[in-house]
Amino acid sequence: MSEPSKSDFIRDIIADDLATGKHSTVITRFPPEPNGYLHIGHAKSICLNFGIALENEGVKAQCNLRFDDTNPEKEETEYVESIKEDVKWLGFDWGEGLYFASNYFGFFHDCAVHLIREGKAYVDDQTAEEMKHSRGNVNVPGTPSPFRDRTVEENLDLFARMKAGEFKEGEKVLRAKIDLASPNMNLRDPVLYRILHSHHHNTGDAWCIYPMYDFAHPLEDALEHITHSLCTLEFENHRPLYDWFIDNCPVPSKPRQIEFARLNLTYTVMSKRKLLQLVQENRVSGWDDPRLPTISGIRRRGYPPEAVRHFCKRVGITKFNGTTDVALLEFDVRDHLNASAQRRMAVLDPVKVVLENWSAEPLAIVEIPNHPQNPELGARDVPISGEVWIEREDFMEDPPKKFFRLGPGRHVRLRGGHIIRCTSFEKDAAGNVSLIRAEILPGTVGADAPEGVECRAAIHWVDAATGADAEVRIYDRLFSVESPDDADGGFLTVINPDSLKTVTAKIEPSLAEAPAGFNCQFERVGYFVTDLKEHRPGVKAVFNRTVALKDSWAKQAGK
Ligand code: ATP
Ligand code: MG
Repeated sequence: MSEPSKSDFIRDIIADDLATGKHSTVITRFPPEPNGYLHIGHAKSICLNFGIALENEGVKAQCNLRFDDTNPEKEETEYVESIKEDVKWLGFDWGEGLYFASNYFGFFHDCAVHLIREGKAYVDDQTAEEMKHSRGNVNVPGTPSPFRDRTVEENLDLFARMKAGEFKEGEKVLRAKIDLASPNMNLRDPVLYRILHSHHHNTGDAWCIYPMYDFAHPLEDALEHITHSLCTLEFENHRPLYDWFIDNCPVPSKPRQIEFARLNLTYTVMSKRKLLQLVQENRVSGWDDPRLPTISGIRRRGYPPEAVRHFCKRVGITKFNGTTDVALLEFDVRDHLNASAQRRMAVLDPVKVVLENWSAEPLAIVEIPNHPQNPELGARDVPISGEVWIEREDFMEDPPKKFFRLGPGRHVRLRGGHIIRCTSFEKDAAGNVSLIRAEILPGTVGADAPEGVECRAAIHWVDAATGADAEVRIYDRLFSVESPDDADGGFLTVINPDSLKTVTAKIEPSLAEAPAGFNCQFERVGYFVTDLKEHRPGVKAVFNRTVALKDSWAKQAGK
């Protein structure tokens, strides 16, 4: 990847570890739990972990994609596939480093047995309620379970019987024996294993005891020789426990956990639980709904992966939790598309203009550049005949002086084509303008306005004879308030009722043939992309609005 990242405290630590010889390799990992689709927050973690591996070219550097699939109840292979696709789409490659934590179940078990042998773990028969109570609180030290002093032999026997399926769920757990008086609650004899008589997507029914996240994660990291295990800030006070497991289990390496602030965005919910709820309650069309912050959603929305990476880089890596303005992400998307997206013409709210003197000049093709600054993007031939569609708002029946578009007697240029003059118009029964009549000024294609003609604007248009219809989905932010998570009635009560409007638009012929996933700018309207799922070239055109040309929310907020 050509974009170098500026340094941050994590990259500084890694550079230091290499300089001092503490490490001669850099191995990171991205460890999603396959219980949902990835979102833009995950993109931050992906860019960090894979980015670091790419930047350290001089040493052996690698970033693993590790599925943290230790919880049998919530995980599905559909999620595994989507996560792989999303990481690839973002532009990263795990190479040989594809792992499943469930393949380490045997190792986790051996570590647990090791801790029991060392007198550092015990089987507890207390109920969850009793355990919670006896753990105390920040001011009150925990009280030992009546089972805390079981002998090693008894613990080994009971743990083996837990594994053999002799007990019901909740009847027994395995706990580490650490420090019931620790000011860090995580160290007050945390649970290592619980009984779950569940089927696992990878290991089937081989296990009925499953390890807890805090126990499994450091062991996974150590097994893969991860040097720097990067996670979000909420795990900061789990770090002493992470280190305790590394220090007390027979692990092949010593990874170091470093925490950074997670990404939060305004006007967005990011928790997988909430995203799942939006999907399950059909508030959106699926995990890949273009209004969701999921990677599959923003892909379908037309966000370029480069823009997402650039955004993640700009947000940077810090220790301070905050919320990033979603407008910053939209800015990067707009900025990237402004440079790269071809220009096309589409009319979203069409009204017909009849060019009355059309036959006076038989020009039927105009050549229009695909990009105003980048000639490498070429030009295209756009047919034009005696009738064109223009945007309803580009005509005014009684225009003020400063309105430079079409009105009775006024001139305007059809982008790339002639200057036209409005001669008359018609209205329908409802009082809406239904037809505009105009005449072309011969010889004005590619030429200045003749003497005495005032023409100060060019408008986009679509030829009525050769243009096509398209379903255009105008997406906007899914929530109408900045912090949907904090809404009084819950995030579902602040869904933006205008987050999706569908219109039938007129599009120039080349757009009907565009492949799925084609990004372009509809001139003067916004950035659009052909839908990855429903657009069929030459059969049915479906466009999604990626982002408007300008940020209309900033204006609203300023009012
Ligand atoms: P959620 O809280 O939304 O359910 P999670 O943290 O449980 O997400 P995981 O699948 O466990 O989701 O996350 C995989 C990795 O992505 C973890 O290392 C996690 O810290 C990181 N991650 C998740 N959300 C964010 C975020 N908003 N910003 C940065 N990193 C994140
Ligand atoms: Mg998690």
